[in-house]
Amino acid sequence: MAFDQLSTKLQDVFKQLKSKGKLSDKDVKLALREVKLALLEADVNFKVVKQFIKTIEERAVGTEVLESLTPGQQVIKIVNDELVALMGGTQSKITFASKGITPIMMVGLQGAGKTTTSGKLAALIKSQGKRPLLVGCDVYRPAAIDQLMKVGKQVNIPVFSLGTDHNPVDIAKAGMEYARENNFDVVLLDTAGRLHIDEVLMDELKFIKAEVKPREILLVVDAMTGQDAVNVAESFNEALGIDGIVMTKLDSDNRGGAALSVKAVTNKPIKYAGMGEKLSDLEPFHPERMASRILG
Ligand code: GDP
Repeated sequence: MAFDQLSTKLQDVFKQLKSKGKLSDKDVKLALREVKLALLEADVNFKVVKQFIKTIEERAVGTEVLESLTPGQQVIKIVNDELVALMGGTQSKITFASKGITPIMMVGLQGAGKTTTSGKLAALIKSQGKRPLLVGCDVYRPAAIDQLMKVGKQVNIPVFSLGTDHNPVDIAKAGMEYARENNFDVVLLDTAGRLHIDEVLMDELKFIKAEVKPREILLVVDAMTGQDAVNVAESFNEALGIDGIVMTKLDSDNRGGAALSVKAVTNKPIKYAGMGEKLSDLEPFHPERMASRILG
C-alpha cells in the first residue's frame, strides 16, 4: 500500500518525539531532519521536500509550540496539517454541467491504467445516478478498443466506437452526437496512450479538446513510476492544460512520492486514486485521509 515505508519511518520519529516531554529547538530540528530523509527516500520531489520542511520548521520551532504541554503532539499536528496542504487541502471533485452533456477526456501514457480507470470512473458516475457513455478514441491499438468494450461490459456501460479506421477527432464528435441522441449525460473519452510524450500525441489531444470542449481533462498516471509520473503531469499540463489527476496503482506503490509531489509541482489536484485492478477499486482522493494514513 502507498506510503507504507514512509508511514513506518515517520511514526518512529514521532514516537521518539512524544516520549521526550519537553522539547528543545534542537530536538525538533533533528526530528525534522529524519522527516526530510524519509520523504526523500519515499521519492518526493526534492524541491517540494525542502519547502515542506522549511514551512514546518517555521511553525514548529518557537516558544508557542515548545513550551506547550504536549510539544511532541503539536509538532505532529503541524506535520499533519502540512501533509494535507501538500496534497491539495480539501477533496477536489469533478463537476458536471448543469444541463446537457458533461464531456470528460481521459488522457495519459500507455500502461498508466487509462482504459481501466475510464471504466472505473464511468461506474462511479453511474452509481451517482447519471448516464455515462464510454467512447473509444484509441485507433492505434485495436486491442485498446476491445479492452474498453470488455471493461464497459463488466460495468454494464455502453461503449461507442467506430473501430480503428477513423480519425479520433471524428470519433469523439460522433460519440458526442450519439450521446445527445440517446440521452446520455456524461461522455468519457478514452484517448490514445503512447509510450512517450510526443508532439503528435499532444496535437491529437488538442484537436479532440477543441472539438468536444471537455469539462474535465483527467490525466491518468501510474504512482509506481514516482517522479516520472510528476514529470508526465507537468508536460501534459503545459501542453494541454489538465483539470485533475487520477493516480493509479497506489495499492502497489509503497513509496508514495508521486502522490505527495504532484499537486505542489503542477498545481493540479489528484481527484481520484486507483487502489487495485478490480473495476470497483477507484476512490475519490481525500488529502486528510491520506495524511492520517501516513501518520497512523
Ligand atoms: P492504459 O494502457 O493506460 O489504458 O492501461 P490499462 O487500463 O490497460 O492498465 C494497465 C494495467 O494496469 C492493467 O493490468 C490494469 O489492471 C492495471 N491497473 C490499472 N489501474 C490499477 C490500479 O489502480 N491498481 C493496480 N494494481 N493495477 C491497476
